[in-house]
Amino acid sequence: MANLKWKTPRSKTRSRRAANWKLNAVTTVECPQCHAPKRPHFVCANCGTYAGRQVVEIKDKHAGHEHA
Ligand SMILES: [Zn+2]
Repeated sequence: MANLKWKTPRSKTRSRRAANWKLNAVTTVECPQCHAPKRPHFVCANCGTYAGRQVVEIKDKHAGHEHA
């Protein structure tokens, strides 16, 4: 009987489960300050607060998530 040259097709090699588990979509929670989506336990990228404190100065970027 002829042997398989590849057990996994080469086109599937890069999409194995173990090779891609780190590429999950990031979980986000709502910032209590500005209600923008942010990473849990991370400083909010939108308003720069963490646990109710301002920890990062936000430069007035042109693009923001504010709907004002
Ligand atoms: Zn925020």
